[in-house]
Amino acid sequence: MTADLLKAEIHCHLEGAARPELARAQAEKYGIDISGILGDRGYVWRDFSEFLVCYDAVASLFRTADDYALLTRTYLAELAAANTIYSEIIVSPDHGDRIGLGADAYLAGVSDGIEAARESSGIEARIIVTGERHFGPERVIAAAEYAARARHPLVTGFNMAGEERMGRVADYARAFDIAREAGLGLTIHAGEVCGAFSVWDALDLVRPSRIGHGVRSIEDRALLERLAELGTVLEVCPGSNIALKVFPDFDSHPLRALKAAGVRVCLNSDDPPFFRTSLAREYALASEAMDFTQDEINGMTRTALEAAFVDEDTRGRLLAKLGPEAGDERAEPA
Ligand SMILES: [Zn+2]
Repeated sequence: MTADLLKAEIHCHLEGAARPELARAQAEKYGIDISGILGDRGYVWRDFSEFLVCYDAVASLFRTADDYALLTRTYLAELAAANTIYSEIIVSPDHGDRIGLGADAYLAGVSDGIEAARESSGIEARIIVTGERHFGPERVIAAAEYAARARHPLVTGFNMAGEERMGRVADYARAFDIAREAGLGLTIHAGEVCGAFSVWDALDLVRPSRIGHGVRSIEDRALLERLAELGTVLEVCPGSNIALKVFPDFDSHPLRALKAAGVRVCLNSDDPPFFRTSLAREYALASEAMDFTQDEINGMTRTALEAAFVDEDTRGRLLAKLGPEAGDERAEPA
């Protein structure tokens, strides 16, 4: 039922979107044994720390600008085939440096992939540069400086991902100041592994328009009120949350309660094949496992587009595609 709906997502990590088939092909290309992280049933990991290790191993299979163009193009084609009109891809140019490719070539590969996908399917996409929290504040600040300096037309946001339990948000606030001054949209992973305090810290110290996950805000009523008042959008990734055991099952997932509390939310896939999911499946789950109506789901797509880090012309075009009334809660009869 959700297959035909137009879709959008604003929280997906590029290397985390590599399908096992593509990872296998890359491993073959470079003669790397990945049997330890990729089994018959997909990627192999047991907890958040192992997931990060597995993620890095998959990332290490992409080594040239062409590899990154291929990865980006392949993922966006998959999204477009599921009627997705907009995607924000979280990338780490830092990774380009670490593997000796260089941040510029890494970014050039990703943007080539975006252009190619747009040409073949019309899907619109933007790049969010992310700092990896577990590499420490200096590296995150360097990532922000790079994003600011790049002045790349497709780089429109800055994020911080990685191990949420490492350090406090205050240690990383400077990175976000640099990104804000450069005119980049701000979002930050919080309220996933850590509780409501991490979302409060993010709101106070980073002042982002969006929070990656933020689902554990449900633990604090005052925080829900604050999020609703600010209009902060939570980039919710239900399949990821269940896979990482942030919540035991879809019945106990707080997406509906967050929405009911007036918090703006949207659907995202995070690292889809690592969590045996896809954006299409997240939409299907919203309908089948969480009982959202088609109009409510369109409302979440609308929220994603309203919160997207794009110029207003592009936003207008995307919203027009979705349809003037689709999921517009203001248009609903009282
Ligand atoms: Zn994420």
